[in-house]
Amino acid sequence: MKKNGLYSKEEKIFQDESKLYSAHLVKQIAYSTDPRDLGQVAKSVPCQDACPAKTNIPGYIRCINEKRYGRAYELNRGANILPGVLGRICSRPCESACRHGEPDNGASVGICHLKRACADLKSPMHRIIEGLYSPTGKTVAVVGSGPAGLAAAHDLAILGHKAVIFETMEKPGGMLMYGIPEFRLPRDLLMLEINNVLRLGVDLKTSLTIGRDFSLESLRQEYDAVVVATGCMKPRRLGVEGENLKNVFHGLDFMKEINAGQTPRVGKRVVVIGAGFTAVDCARSAVRLGASDVKINIRKTIEYMRIDETEKREALVEGIVTHTLVQPSRILGEEGKVSGIEFVRTRLESIDKPPFRIAVPIKGSEFTIPCDSVIAALGQTPDVADLSPDLSGMDKERYSTDLEGVFATGDFVTGASDVISAIAGGRQCAHGVDEYLTGLSRKKKVVRLESHASTDRLRSYDFIKKLEMNTIDMEPRLEVATNEVETGYTQDQAHEESKRCYLCNLKYEIDPLRCIYCSACIDVAPKDCIKLVETIPLNEDGSYGEYQESSQWDRVVSITIDNHACIRCGQCYAACPMDCISVTKTEMVEIDLDE
Ligand SMILES: Cc1cc2nc3c(=O)[nH]c(=O)nc-3n(C[C@H](O)[C@H](O)[C@H](O)COP(=O)(O)OP(=O)(O)OC[C@H]3O[C@@H](n4cnc5c(N)ncnc54)[C@H](O)[C@@H]3O)c2cc1C
Ligand code: SF4
Ligand code: SF4
Ligand code: SF4
Repeated sequence: MKKNGLYSKEEKIFQDESKLYSAHLVKQIAYSTDPRDLGQVAKSVPCQDACPAKTNIPGYIRCINEKRYGRAYELNRGANILPGVLGRICSRPCESACRHGEPDNGASVGICHLKRACADLKSPMHRIIEGLYSPTGKTVAVVGSGPAGLAAAHDLAILGHKAVIFETMEKPGGMLMYGIPEFRLPRDLLMLEINNVLRLGVDLKTSLTIGRDFSLESLRQEYDAVVVATGCMKPRRLGVEGENLKNVFHGLDFMKEINAGQTPRVGKRVVVIGAGFTAVDCARSAVRLGASDVKINIRKTIEYMRIDETEKREALVEGIVTHTLVQPSRILGEEGKVSGIEFVRTRLESIDKPPFRIAVPIKGSEFTIPCDSVIAALGQTPDVADLSPDLSGMDKERYSTDLEGVFATGDFVTGASDVISAIAGGRQCAHGVDEYLTGLSRKKKVVRLESHASTDRLRSYDFIKKLEMNTIDMEPRLEVATNEVETGYTQDQAHEESKRCYLCNLKYEIDPLRCIYCSACIDVAPKDCIKLVETIPLNEDGSYGEYQESSQWDRVVSITIDNHACIRCGQCYAACPMDCISVTKTEMVEIDLDE
């Protein structure tokens, strides 16, 4: 054993996988608010940084690797109240940021599939962990039971406040219950995770519309604070001739009908217009209603569709065709019913502000196609008619509106977004409300640093191919429209996929005072990850800036590992003859301010 409590060289070089688990006997733990540590974690763990809820992704993937599924679930739940739900339908900004997906590194890790694995594979004896604060005696009305409202109510309950949710629909869940189809999200699982929120003492009052049955003002009188999380409920209209014909559906209304168990008659030939989740869900639902010719029509090209790769692939499997660079100009009808649709072709034009490329209609390029129904899935906007706290003067940090004691969050504030952003917003809003009610800021973010005596990986893991999700065949998809298409990873598959994660939360450092500049580490490094530097400047916020490298030995002041380029292969760690490379586990955690 070394003096500093870490393992000796012989002990830390692992020849086979079984020995990887034996290395956690001695731990040194510290907590830091140093901007250099905060900045390092944000930059070095790009998946976590990209997740709106800042989920500890390498942490839970490592737990899956150790077959600790319950702990993996809790690590997820600490950031997001619905891990099993998000493991199925998350928009996955983390996977786009994953270091494994960078050029020459292969495909990104199946972060979302692994999230589902911890929910699926945890023991039936698993217990939810909640650290409750003492009751404050304060009450908060939450309007809307979508992911944002549920997340706000959950955190308010944890913080000791009495939360009461008001929901216009019969069941809770918002778009999770009435938008997303059951073949992507089973409702028993959704209700199970919603009930884990409600059992904290959150009251749910359904079939009550604020603005009709109660006014916002009456809630303000009765409760100490109000959170508005009513989402985006107003469908965007096509604005073309023929929109009022029979068999023209609006995407969200269409999905609401299906999710209420109805079977709208769409005919055989269905034209869907739109490029987001709703459009693909409508198209896939039309297939299950018996349509044999379903086309999604988009103004731009497929790369601009706001859906993940799995959705694109499954739509293809189900025989759905995507027509690009077209825009509807007229819906044609016979006897009051849809008979076809006229499109105009578009081209992409560059502009100098976001979204940088716009679709421009090409004059004279009109063409028509016959169809039996048209589904306009252009997204939704907030319905502020009955319920309008003024959002123009909103404090985005505290989620407070111009109306004293009224807060707002979720899609209602951001416009149509995604579930993980709504959950993150709901939780942050709860902390804004808590500060308003108690005058206290209870949590702070710190970096937890733990000395680590192994790399937890083998180099061979870097060459494992990404595992695709298992799915059911076409026949059972059509047989029962609600049959879940994806069936999850098996234990073995989850274990194999977990090995692919580089564990970017492990920080590799060289002790320059011990280093003899032999270059052994540089020679074995698979990337341009170990640098000889002149200076490492600090950014204005105190975090590390870009390294200034040098190839002239007389100017080199240090040798350093670039943790943004490092893929945590462990080669340098094993090769160094001076044992001067150390590994530290770094995690962003929230602690109570009085701790
Ligand atoms: C068809 C479809 C598929 C989608 N697929 C995905 C996906 O795969 N992945 C993803 O990340 N995102 C997806 N989204 C987007 C995602 O569902 C939303 O971004 C998210 O649900 C927003 O959460 P929210 O809580 O802000 O609002 P919502 O989920 O819209 O919830 C708002 C709630 O407020 C209630 N409400 C509204 N007005 C009142 C009132 N006056 N009084 C009382 N209650 C009221 C509503 O009934 C609803 O329950 C999809 C959306 C749709 C429509
Ligand atoms: S390799 Fe693992 S820790 Fe690194 S970005 Fe990807 S999922 Fe996150
Ligand atoms: S572990 Fe060492 S050799 Fe491997 S990528 Fe990171 S710095 Fe380079
Ligand atoms: S192998 Fe070790 S001693 Fe040699 S240059 Fe790298 S860190 Fe320094």
